[in-house]
Amino acid sequence: MAQPPNPRRRDRRASFTVQFALILLGVGLATAIAGAAVAWFETQTVSSGQMLGSAARSARLAVGVVRLETANVSATLACELAPLPRTAGAFQAGNSGLTSLAQSVVEANPGHYLIFTDGSGSILAGATAGAPLSSFQALVKQAVKARQRCSQGGSFLGMGRTVLGVGLAPVSSSGRTLGYVVAMTPVTRATLSFASRLLSSQTGGTEVLLASAGRADLSGRTGWARVLADAPIPSGVAKALASRSGAGRVTVGGQAFTVAGQPIRTASNRALATVIVSRPSTSLAPSAAQLGIPVALAVACVLLLGLVVVFLLAERYLNRPLRRLNEAVQRLGQDVYADPVVIDGAEEITRLAANFEIMRRRLRHQLVLAVGRSVIASTLTGNAPLDQVLSQVLMNLCRVLEVEMAAILLRSDEQSQPNLLITWGMGNQSLEWSELEQSPGLVGSLLREPRFLSRSVLSSMERGPLERDLGLRDCLAEPLAGEGKDLGVLIVANKHTPYLDEDSALCNAVAVQVVAAVEKSRQLVVTRHEATTDAMTGLYNYRFLIGYLDQQVNVAERADSNLSILMLDLDHFKSVNDSYGHLAGDAVLRAVSNLVVDTIRKSDLAARYGGEEFVVVMSNTGSEEAQLVAEKIRQAVAGLSVKLDQGVTVEVTISIGGVSFPEGTRGARNLLDLADRALYQAKRDGRNRVEFLDLAAAPGPGGGG
Ligand code: GH3
Ligand code: MG
Ligand code: MG
Repeated sequence: MAQPPNPRRRDRRASFTVQFALILLGVGLATAIAGAAVAWFETQTVSSGQMLGSAARSARLAVGVVRLETANVSATLACELAPLPRTAGAFQAGNSGLTSLAQSVVEANPGHYLIFTDGSGSILAGATAGAPLSSFQALVKQAVKARQRCSQGGSFLGMGRTVLGVGLAPVSSSGRTLGYVVAMTPVTRATLSFASRLLSSQTGGTEVLLASAGRADLSGRTGWARVLADAPIPSGVAKALASRSGAGRVTVGGQAFTVAGQPIRTASNRALATVIVSRPSTSLAPSAAQLGIPVALAVACVLLLGLVVVFLLAERYLNRPLRRLNEAVQRLGQDVYADPVVIDGAEEITRLAANFEIMRRRLRHQLVLAVGRSVIASTLTGNAPLDQVLSQVLMNLCRVLEVEMAAILLRSDEQSQPNLLITWGMGNQSLEWSELEQSPGLVGSLLREPRFLSRSVLSSMERGPLERDLGLRDCLAEPLAGEGKDLGVLIVANKHTPYLDEDSALCNAVAVQVVAAVEKSRQLVVTRHEATTDAMTGLYNYRFLIGYLDQQVNVAERADSNLSILMLDLDHFKSVNDSYGHLAGDAVLRAVSNLVVDTIRKSDLAARYGGEEFVVVMSNTGSEEAQLVAEKIRQAVAGLSVKLDQGVTVEVTISIGGVSFPEGTRGARNLLDLADRALYQAKRDGRNRVEFLDLAAAPGPGGGG
């Protein structure tokens, strides 16, 4: 039959798909954001690095410009002036000649200082724009001492806060050094402005500042901040310059700048001052190419991660549970029902696994019950004694139902048969039928009123002293039904899980079989009894007598012991029948039978041989002792008077013939023949007497009276 689609199931499936998609989307988004962030950070780092590098290059360029404008120019001037004949002439003309030469040269080249020295560096004359010549002495000596050759490069020297580009060239005449031309050009505000303009033509807004020991050597700008000569440079700038790269990004006046510094050094590599270049930081947007690679990488990462997530989710929610389920199915295929199915995974698979687990449990339960049923059935049909069989049945029932204890309580509906009280797992508790019947708890009530009952927990009313002693926690009971009425109850108790329908079905089947087995066993007892006893007198019958006698003869032969038998016959019994009727004769026969049984010992056996004849078998009894017993019987019968219905009493006598084994006898038959012969002798000798056969005398054929 077609099932209508289950909307809840569809919902759950949809929710699983949505969960799955959301997880994927979340992971994808997170990865994309992370990728983009990395890309942005990368480009920012790169552009910031580029800007710092560019600023550092500009600072080097600024130093180059300053060198060109001061040191190089001074060197060129000194080198051009030194070899001129007019210069040598001025040296020869003395101080006045040198002074006028210096003034004329400085006039032609404004912004320069010119000094002439002798060979040892002492100043001879010069033009220094009004500054006293003596203040240059130390500087000039230093330059001469360094013996700078005429070179286009020149070098830097410092005088106070002033940085001077210095060029030096020797003046000689006829191979003799007359002295030196020392040209000096100070680094001025104009020099720096020139450098600024030059660099700004490349990157707008570039400012160049000269500073030493954290203070500006000349007034100028760094970023948007104006710095006066000898004033400290902004702390942010100083900090950036002090960093390892000598460059950095600084915010001055609310605006971001990139600053870089480059030292101006003497010929002996001593730093005189630092040229500081600053320029506004432009936030460079990364180019498409710059962004392309990281974005592509991020996308690839997202895809890869997505694949991994899909794989992991599929493994966790689909593959692994399906594999387990498959293994469970295989196990069932191999008739292994005990291993539980693991329930996890995606919703549908969980439900499938759960249903499968329910199926496995039911199958296992059914299987256990079926096996239990067949074991119990085969136990009940066995030939062992009833008590033993029922004990085994209870043991198997406990095992199959996984309960701790079980009991069969079955009342006998016949006086002759005992009540049955079989238990399993109830410890050493010795239970008495009468106590059980009167006990106030559940067991007593079940015994008084057998019925079906299934209890997971006993109520306080049901837990009487007996139940507490037994430790009864729960109970499943099935009535044991006899013919038309319930004679008892089958009880199982103490299971760790609730009782199922299958459990009570098994108990019911067992109860039916137990009753059948008990009835069969009891029937067997009756049949056996009937087969071996005489219905009228209750004595053993002829058939049983023959078997028993054979057995006793064998025992006596093997044990070399004595065995005696008596054959009894009522005297003139025919006349009793004739006088009082056959029923009266029967009553007399019963009375005599009872009397014989009462007279003989427990170890002796009395049987009805036929008609009014009886046989008594006495094991371990010799001839003399047997004769005493026979005489006792004879006297007892002689003293018996049987009261009949009409108030009449009947008296009888009995004749007894006896013989003892092993005196020349051969088996049971022979023994009976011999006893019969002795009986015949007793009859012949006058009846109401005991005659024992003297075998040694005259053996011969005998006949009963
Ligand atoms: P005696 O043995 O002393 O020679 O005389 P008797 O009268 O007992 O002789 P007999 O053995 O010939 O007779 C046996 C009688 O017992 C015959 C029969 O009517 C009677 N009898 C045998 N079986 C039963 C029985 O089951 N019930 C009754 N009432 N009578 C029986
Ligand atoms: Mg007789
Ligand atoms: Mg007889």
